Amino acid sequence: MKILLVEDAKAVAALMAARLSAFGYDVQLAENGQVAVEMYQAAPPDLVLMDIEMPVMNGFEATNRIRAFESTQQWAWTPIIFLTASDTPENIVTAIEAGGDDFLAKTVPETVLQAKMKALSRIALLRARLALANRKLEEMANRDGLTGLFNRRHMDLRTDVAWEEAIRSGHAFGLLMLDVDNFKKYNDHYGHQAGDDCLRSVAAALSEVCDELGPDVILARYGGEEFALVLPGIDAASCQTIGQVLVEAVRHRQIPHERNAAWGVVTISVGGAWQNSATGKIVSLFRQADVALYRAKEAGRNQLAFD
Ligand code: GH3
Ligand code: MG
Ligand code: MG
Ligand code: MG
Repeated sequence: MKILLVEDAKAVAALMAARLSAFGYDVQLAENGQVAVEMYQAAPPDLVLMDIEMPVMNGFEATNRIRAFESTQQWAWTPIIFLTASDTPENIVTAIEAGGDDFLAKTVPETVLQAKMKALSRIALLRARLALANRKLEEMANRDGLTGLFNRRHMDLRTDVAWEEAIRSGHAFGLLMLDVDNFKKYNDHYGHQAGDDCLRSVAAALSEVCDELGPDVILARYGGEEFALVLPGIDAASCQTIGQVLVEAVRHRQIPHERNAAWGVVTISVGGAWQNSATGKIVSLFRQADVALYRAKEAGRNQLAFD
């Protein structure tokens, strides 16, 4: 457990640090509240032991700032224990009111200090587990269960942000809508379970290409056997090239599909829409891509149509 010990009195700090280190804790020292806030922001500890009276910034103010910083971070919370001169009722009330989670008299006996630290390291461990579980849940909530790609909800959220940003900065914006060809026939012929496997495989083929395109592109399962690729800041030629590469990537996977025209393998059709300088509503770009997708289907499938 990493403890940030905030104490201006050098003798007290040295003694406390020695005792805590002897229990096996990793102790870092800050000589006043301001240094503590900076150290906290650079690398949050598992526990803060905070003196109250200190030069530059006192313990109450430092606690306020740490709590304010935590509120801007996700799942951040660190127990802050005030070090009080004595455990008078007034000191205890003041410490808790100031946003501390507990108090500790500096004169606390060795055994009590050790017991308190044991209890607090349990809390720190639970908190770390909770943060991890929350992060996993959040990640899962953004993903489509079948393919592991981003889901529609997450795509919509991120696309709105990217679109607003593109409007503000006058940047270009590209969108590709992708749809598996004759997929109803695939299901009818191979069964729904095989259809699911096929969608996973198509998603993997798309991912392989999109992983090369950097963190700003958003590849999602749009619904059913449809996928979407959002390409903020892209030029028209690249947008078109990516669409073509994706058509080929899926065909080259060579997933057998006897009932898909002459190719005998699974193919996709792609509709692309692009704006040189983002204006208006994002829905019109989606509509435009949909119309292009329809054209690609009409023109014989296994191809890109681009607006
Ligand atoms: P087109 O080439 O015009 O796109 O024809 P299509 O058969 O692919 O299009 P259509 O929209 O008629 O059929 C889509 C099919 O996709 C129908 C639906 O049963 C199937 N589908 C949608 N979601 C899933 C899924 O999660 N798993 C499986 N196995 N099939 C799905
Ligand atoms: Mg002091
Ligand atoms: Mg479809
Ligand atoms: Mg289809």
